Amino acid sequence: MKAAVVGGGPAGCAAAYTLRKHGHEVVLFEAQDGVGGRTSQVLKDGFSLGSGALFLMGGIYPRTNAILKELGRYQELVAWDAETEVIDADGQRYSAKFDQVMSFLRMPVLTWRDKLRIATGVAAQLVRPGPKLCFDGAELAKYDGGENLESWSRRVLGERGTNYITVPYMGFLYAVPMSWLSPALFHAVVKQFYRLALSVPPKGVGQVCDWLVEGSPGLDLRLSTPVDKITQDGAGYTVTAGGERHPVDAVIVAPEPGVAADLLVDLVEPESTKKLRDCMYSDYAHVQLCYKRNPWPDHRASVALPANMERDWGACVLLSKRHPSAVPEGGEAVGVYFYTPPLERMSDEDIVNSARNAVLEVYGPGPEPDFVELFHYRRGLSIANPGHYGTLDSLHAEMPPGVYLAGDYFAHAGVEAPIFSGELAANRLIQAH
Ligand SMILES: Cc1cc2nc3c(=O)[nH]c(=O)nc-3n(C[C@H](O)[C@H](O)[C@H](O)COP(=O)(O)OP(=O)(O)OC[C@H]3O[C@@H](n4cnc5c(N)ncnc54)[C@H](O)[C@@H]3O)c2cc1C
Repeated sequence: MKAAVVGGGPAGCAAAYTLRKHGHEVVLFEAQDGVGGRTSQVLKDGFSLGSGALFLMGGIYPRTNAILKELGRYQELVAWDAETEVIDADGQRYSAKFDQVMSFLRMPVLTWRDKLRIATGVAAQLVRPGPKLCFDGAELAKYDGGENLESWSRRVLGERGTNYITVPYMGFLYAVPMSWLSPALFHAVVKQFYRLALSVPPKGVGQVCDWLVEGSPGLDLRLSTPVDKITQDGAGYTVTAGGERHPVDAVIVAPEPGVAADLLVDLVEPESTKKLRDCMYSDYAHVQLCYKRNPWPDHRASVALPANMERDWGACVLLSKRHPSAVPEGGEAVGVYFYTPPLERMSDEDIVNSARNAVLEVYGPGPEPDFVELFHYRRGLSIANPGHYGTLDSLHAEMPPGVYLAGDYFAHAGVEAPIFSGELAANRLIQAH
């Protein structure tokens, strides 16, 4: 069997890897000049800046871990202790560890009554049936009851539990108001809180896609070759890309859903392309302020998270503490990650200025950075609002024979989602064949 895979992000690379592992002929088309998509690294003056993804999340990324083990790469992951300071509206700081949810309960701002309420809410979630995997859209759909995360959290964890635990977590992970989010992911994470652990590949998260390609000998990889069209051709398909026509038996379509809708417009019903186009994405920006000489070598915590959404930004990260080789020796870079709603009224210059103010507030006065990089995605993170998982999951059954979809949007942003869905699409294709 010969298959085409469209898109060389983690979803497409995982699909291509799985098909090659089973001996199928695969041509992978990627529009950019390298694989990685929103996990790609940007190299500049000795800094390795993640254009998007920053870290992997341990035991809640089971398929990513399994594939990295198959590739013999798992041992290379560098652990990140993620010492965290939660910053109150008045500047008061509390210590916690991002990957140890229970450490948040030690914050003195929480009263015994708060702690009891949070512990009871978490315990109830642990015993209640719920999603077993955090990034399996079909599984999440079963427990997506329609309530949003904001109302669930305030009802179950209380005001302070929400402001000091749910807001910092989800502000860092998704940077949108919690009322936009289904609680299914949070429920799944709560059920596996003890499996959370953060790590980074030695050259940044973008290396995962490089490893997948290296682990797929015989893969026909076409970089800088965007797919323009997919048409039906007898029992198979013709993929038009880079001015060439490629006849294949099957296609895995793994770019963002708006592009997938354009490519599939003549092959599926309009309701299906509408579901793809309606999939919600957030405007998302982060700024990397890069210093060749570290101005704050003694600052202990590597992540600062606001306890509420009163600031424009949802996280500040010291890159040298996340992973030393992300910066040149003796250097530092601060990533400032913004909430989505304020971006609507901010120019790119405002975003950079606000990032400088965030750095001043969190780390104190420092020299001018040697350079500043702004990453602004008009469609940054797929956002799972209530009902999202079921709507998107129904698309699989609406594809014509030989066409499969993959991408993080079937669950929500996070490298495990595209790896899970890319592997699933390839396995479904192999089974059908
Ligand atoms: C700022 C930011 C921070 C993030 N932080 C984290 C994190 O810390 N941890 C984490 O796990 N996840 C994180 N994520 C999420 C993670 O990056 C995504 O979930 C993941 O990249 C999605 O993979 P994908 O393959 O579905 O899509 P993408 O990565 O978007 O890949 C899609 C690919 O398709 C290509 N393409 C598009 N059109 C065509 C075409 N016509 N023909 C051929 N190719 C095409 C694109 O160029 C792209 O390479 C972050 C994302 C962002 C934006």
